[in-house]
Amino acid sequence: QAHLDRMAATRALNAYVAETPDIALALADAADARRARGEALGPMDGVPIAVKDLFCTEGVASTASSAILASFVPPYESTVSAKLKAAGAVMLGKTNMDEFAMGSANITSAQGPVRNPWGPDGDSFLVPGGSSGGSAAAVAARSAIAATGSDTGGSIRQPASFCGLVGLKPTYGRCSRWGMIAFASSLDQAGPITRTVEDAAIMLGAMAGHDPKDSTSAEIAVPDFRAAVNRGVRGLKIGVPREYRVDGMPAEIEALWQQGIDMLKAAGAEVVEISLPHTRYALPTYYIVAPAEASSNLARYDGVRYGHRTRANVSSLGEMYEKSRAEGFGREVKRRIMIGTYVLSAGYYDAYYLKAQQVRTRIAGDFTTAFEQVDAILAPTAPSAAFRFGEKMDDPVQMYLNDVFTVPASLAGLPAISVPAGLSADGLPLGLQVIGRSFDEETVLAVGRAIE
Ligand code: GLN
Repeated sequence: QAHLDRMAATRALNAYVAETPDIALALADAADARRARGEALGPMDGVPIAVKDLFCTEGVASTASSAILASFVPPYESTVSAKLKAAGAVMLGKTNMDEFAMGSANITSAQGPVRNPWGPDGDSFLVPGGSSGGSAAAVAARSAIAATGSDTGGSIRQPASFCGLVGLKPTYGRCSRWGMIAFASSLDQAGPITRTVEDAAIMLGAMAGHDPKDSTSAEIAVPDFRAAVNRGVRGLKIGVPREYRVDGMPAEIEALWQQGIDMLKAAGAEVVEISLPHTRYALPTYYIVAPAEASSNLARYDGVRYGHRTRANVSSLGEMYEKSRAEGFGREVKRRIMIGTYVLSAGYYDAYYLKAQQVRTRIAGDFTTAFEQVDAILAPTAPSAAFRFGEKMDDPVQMYLNDVFTVPASLAGLPAISVPAGLSADGLPLGLQVIGRSFDEETVLAVGRAIE
């Protein structure tokens, strides 16, 4: 009830796109009843959470913040949200996001922008990051204890950094993608946004696990993530990639990174410089691969099978498709569909898509080589603190540059956590990122805990 009250008191943030108090109260009553009967409780029993609107929730509108899905009420529940429910979690509502998870500031949502609770009120508010901006704003505003996010190129980690929270992108394949509205299928991963590293470990444990309904979900046992949190870092080798020292990195981000290095050394880790030589190709590679997959995934929105269909008089099936899509998709989504279609088209496939796939393999190879030498990698999460609404908005490339530190781990499918590590000169939260070996979230959590 306290969280529902807080949700009502912070509506101006626009963090939630659907409030589900009836579901929340029914699930909370059920949790109380289990407790009263002395039943064994699940790891998230009675814990109030928010769910990103990218996850399909049975009987509750699931729109990915797109007008094209405005009327979509799924008859099924995503595996991740079903697992959370089975672990006892209480869904409070669905959270705002960038349309189809395309963005870094939660400004492409058909339901309007989200305000970062750290910022000033009024017209010059701060963005919460994106695409899981509503989830991060809700947890930061204390209208949820934790929230689900999804991360394709940084959408859990960057909003967590902007809102002073912990955000964990698991290894690709750790959580089932079944029932998640697809953006770029070879990159999309669900994960938790929480206040502490320990909470992230508990929540990930409830979300993760093999699912026969997702052929890319890994058949690997889910370890006791919570037990790993306090392992400590003594004896671990931590790599600091020299290529992440990008030109123009603000001094406060450099200083934050150094502080993280010092904390890990003080806690008994050895910190060494490493090289990830293909880092500078990660951003252009991501912005070929992700739109290519998006253009294919979004072909399903044809005005017939899902969501919005034009009301205009049309004289052919093609015209119905065209008008429905023109009306239903926002500008950024259309831009990605055009880029994706272009890089996949017969004349350009080899030059762009195929080349990007080859570079992606090189980027993954850089990490494989590095992890022969080190146990985890420490880097900034984002090149800046939260920026003001209106900034970087007229130039998509400026917006894409936000993702410079998050996309390499995404392209390599590796687990990575963002942990709040300090404040900017303006008093805004800044995050540091820990990247780990494939399926070694345990080390990522332990190192994250040491810099928390
Ligand atoms: N900001 C990146 C993009 O716009 C990443 C988004 C995400 O991880 N979903 O594609």
